[in-house]
Amino acid sequence: MTDATLSFEEAMEKYDPVLGFEVHVELNTKTKMFSSAPNVFGDEPNTNVNEVDLGMPGVLPVVNKTAIESSIKIGLALNCKIAETCRFARKNYFYPDTPKNFQTSQYDEPIAYDGYLDIELADGTVFRVEIERAHMEEDAGKLTHMGGATGRIQGADYSLVDYNRSGVPLVEIVTKPIEGAGSRAPELAKAYVAAVREIVKNLGVSDAKMERGNVRCDANVSLRPHGRERFGIRSETKNVNSLRAVEHAVRYEIQRHAAVLDSGEPVIQETRHWHEDTRTTTSGRAKSDADDYRYFPEPDLVPITASREWVEELRATLPEPPAARRKRLQADWGYSDLEFRDVVNAGVMDEIEETIAAGATPTVARKWWMGEIVGRAKNADVDPGQLGVNPATIVELNKMVEEGKINNKMASEVLDGVLAGEGTPAEIVEKRGLAVVSDDGPLLEAIDAALAAQPDVADKIRGGKVQAIGAIVGGVMKATRGQADAGRVRALILQRLGVEG
Ligand code: ADP
Ligand code: MG
Repeated sequence: MTDATLSFEEAMEKYDPVLGFEVHVELNTKTKMFSSAPNVFGDEPNTNVNEVDLGMPGVLPVVNKTAIESSIKIGLALNCKIAETCRFARKNYFYPDTPKNFQTSQYDEPIAYDGYLDIELADGTVFRVEIERAHMEEDAGKLTHMGGATGRIQGADYSLVDYNRSGVPLVEIVTKPIEGAGSRAPELAKAYVAAVREIVKNLGVSDAKMERGNVRCDANVSLRPHGRERFGIRSETKNVNSLRAVEHAVRYEIQRHAAVLDSGEPVIQETRHWHEDTRTTTSGRAKSDADDYRYFPEPDLVPITASREWVEELRATLPEPPAARRKRLQADWGYSDLEFRDVVNAGVMDEIEETIAAGATPTVARKWWMGEIVGRAKNADVDPGQLGVNPATIVELNKMVEEGKINNKMASEVLDGVLAGEGTPAEIVEKRGLAVVSDDGPLLEAIDAALAAQPDVADKIRGGKVQAIGAIVGGVMKATRGQADAGRVRALILQRLGVEG
């Protein structure tokens, strides 16, 4: 069953959206939140588990100190206050991915609270998002539903469970309700999640790969008629796991809520599932604010005390904030706003920085990444950084072009060779016989042949019609299979004909 929707424009004419985000960040600690089992993605199922992760009776958890440090760093980067003491709590529920029958989380005592993040939108305006809290918890195991057509639990024959993810440290970042975004709500949603992702990546506390679930977003959306103070009923779209999806899910939910409100039906407070293929959501489970998880303080863990000295020590280790870094890099590189935005959107800012550090000029680094590599990455359906292009390779290729050893077209071919694993640029130039013909001997032979083949053109040039030279240059390039330097060929032709260039 598909839900009715209004057009986005019509929805905006009648209603104001209110948003709220819960972003889960998996920390990249060596071991788990409460056990010494390895925290590694992609291993053989159920190999990175021990008694604590499996919830065996009588086991005792121990808090991972690095996870606490990472959580405090995240809190500080989100401009939060850090609690002097805080506790873990048990959130009780049954689900096969959590054998303990409770999740160790934080409830009324989060480690970080009352922060904010300033989000820059595409047109340069800055929107402040208030952070309610950032609390620590553990991830659940992973269920894989088998036998069905969709991979979802509905229609599956059976499910497999992998507890490798059980107990992986998580920080959940919850915003206060976000009002006033209006029609920019979808854009803000995407930009907010992108900013959180950038922060945790920049801090080095998470691998921050959304496609691996390192950063997962639940998007809450409600609408209220213009001028109404009271919030509407929200829906919570779970696990929207790409930046594009966050934007689309918020837009879709706004359109769906508007249709429900227009019909006079009540909005149901529920979780929803996002479907990438249809770009729609479907109903999950009804969820009231009074859901009773019987939270109570975790008796097996002592409270955490974060001394002010420790917090300040951690603050001193924080890297330059992403927004400041971007401003600095743009100024250093001398890119226009548009050039810089394209670089950021293409996801090659870090790569360009490394290429410049390896010795390229900002213009050369941008030319290679934006002109050559981004397109190849798109074709291969990977992030540009994942193609494995070494900054030193770009510097070497560019040097060969500047020295006239190869031309741009050949350089592009050499890059293909590098990506195919054929060796270093120098080796590929050698192997593929790509060097520009710079010895004048063979060039002069080819020029004389071209002039003899087109005597009328030669006469024109002699008579002062230098524009006609293209035909001769073309003939020489053809004869040398593109391996001549066109500038040099031109100069030699003019010299041969005794014409001033
Ligand atoms: P839950 O876990 O039950 O979803 P949380 O408090 O963890 O509750 O998260 C709810 C999120 O939704 C928060 O970001 C909150 O600011 C936001 N929110 C609360 N009420 C509304 C509303 N009426 N419309 C939109 N967002 C809301
Ligand atoms: Mg929540």
